Amino acid sequence: MARQFFVGGNFKMNPASRKDKVALVKLLNEAELDPATEVVVSPPALYLIPVKESIRKDIKVAAQNCYFKDSGAFTGEISPAQLVDSEIPYVILGHSERRTIFHESSEIVAQKTRAALDKGLNIILCIGETLKEREAGETAKVCEEQLKAVVDVLKENDWSKIVIAYEPVWAIGTGKVATPQQAQEAHKDIRSYLSTAVSFAVAGSTRIIYGGSVNAANCRELSTLPDVDGFLVGGASLKPEFVQIVNSKKL
Ligand code: PEP
Repeated sequence: MARQFFVGGNFKMNPASRKDKVALVKLLNEAELDPATEVVVSPPALYLIPVKESIRKDIKVAAQNCYFKDSGAFTGEISPAQLVDSEIPYVILGHSERRTIFHESSEIVAQKTRAALDKGLNIILCIGETLKEREAGETAKVCEEQLKAVVDVLKENDWSKIVIAYEPVWAIGTGKVATPQQAQEAHKDIRSYLSTAVSFAVAGSTRIIYGGSVNAANCRELSTLPDVDGFLVGGASLKPEFVQIVNSKKL
């Protein structure tokens, strides 16, 4: 089955003002985007609804996080049910900034993934190794451990709603992009793990996107790799070059 090219823009805790958010939406609304690419942008929670209401309909919106409970005394959290009620179709889970700064374990990420799926959300599931782990030759092992927690709580048909974002921590926000060889090798290993741990069909149909300092200059080559099905873009998603990244297959 052909895997549709996917480009996500993770705005993180940006832009700094509503005025800048409006300008970013305007830029995207006026851009010529490859209709063959699925495009999802992920603004901070405060901007989810205004962005959804003002952005063109062929761009979807993702939350950057959610909790696993439906409602209740969980100050500062947003539930999957609230995202669905607000017609937000995607959520990013397990981003390395959540794992490291906010101490989210793979088990918590898996619990959130299960809860989000149960409410009907699509998930951009982030995994990836630190520099120390890469230098110790542990990239595949770390990715498998992070994925295993999720594999353990999913059924085979849940995987159609998951996009895996392989994001080496050392490449996020550092300007140090993985080489095409490094990216292809990691993606191939992740796909082969899915084949063993879930099924050959899920391994073939699940999109595995790359994240980590993707920009207009490096996206084209990465987009041609057989196991790279798109990108999760941080810094460059706030700039006009995000349009070129969405269009990387056509550059
Ligand atoms: C990210 O935050 O998911 C990311 C990939 O960031 P950047 O593109 O800035 O490295």
